[in-house]
Amino acid sequence: MSIFSRIVAREIPADIVFENDDVIAFRDIAPQAPVHLLVVPKTEQYANVSELAAGDPALLAQMVTVANGLAAEHSNGEFRLVFNSGESAGQTVFHVHAHILSGQLQEGSLAE
Ligand code: 5GP
Repeated sequence: MSIFSRIVAREIPADIVFENDDVIAFRDIAPQAPVHLLVVPKTEQYANVSELAAGDPALLAQMVTVANGLAAEHSNGEFRLVFNSGESAGQTVFHVHAHILSGQLQEGSLAE
């Protein structure tokens, strides 16, 4: 079971900010922006965004809709949505998730 499935199952704690039948969102444990949330499909069937787009595009669209709502709730509605895909791109959890980054982000600092 992925670490995010363990959060869905309440086996490990998280600061959950949104949940419905398909998707959960919570604060990243190591925030890299004033607002740093993770949006995660409850299924761990898809390892990355490309697999999700091919297998369940409606679920991917729902993640974007949830991200938009959370950015409005937790910040000014403007946000950066990041899907790391693959180890060399910084992915460490192979259960697809989107990083919502918001709040005074610097243009030109997409990557360190
Ligand atoms: P990735 O590097 O795979 O794109 O993103 C994984 C993210 O999950 C990282 O930003 C990391 O800080 C976050 N993370 C890893 N383990 C936990 C955890 O147990 N709880 C929370 N809230 N975030 C986690």
